[in-house]
Amino acid sequence: MRSPQYGHPAHRELAQGYAPCRVCLRTFAAGEEERILFTYQPFHDPDSVPAPGPVFIHAGDCARYDAAELPPDFRALPLVFEAYRAGGELVARERVGARNPDEVLAALLCSGADYVHIRNGEAGCFKAAIRPTY
Ligand SMILES: [Zn+2]
Repeated sequence: MRSPQYGHPAHRELAQGYAPCRVCLRTFAAGEEERILFTYQPFHDPDSVPAPGPVFIHAGDCARYDAAELPPDFRALPLVFEAYRAGGELVARERVGARNPDEVLAALLCSGADYVHIRNGEAGCFKAAIRPTY
């Protein structure tokens, strides 16, 4: 019950919102599922500027999402894509809005981004990272 990167105490609660879970990438059923909140630093590149923030995970067991497509639960959420080059250089930030998120993501990755972070378009918190496998 501590942040794995910072050691801060984690907080367990009944979900008050949709989140989603940082492990399985499914949204929470508010008022029904228990979740754990902790501070997470999403960059692994030592040259990047740290950007720690809050993330939620299911309090119970859930399986890590590892598919080669946008998680289904993300499609109805307000999304911001942040495109980075190696070294944590931000090259683009796109609010998806009503556009097709797959097309926005493809354009970012084809424009030279090495990876893309997905953030919540309302709260700003980190949701997931997309790294091409080609
Ligand atoms: Zn989960």
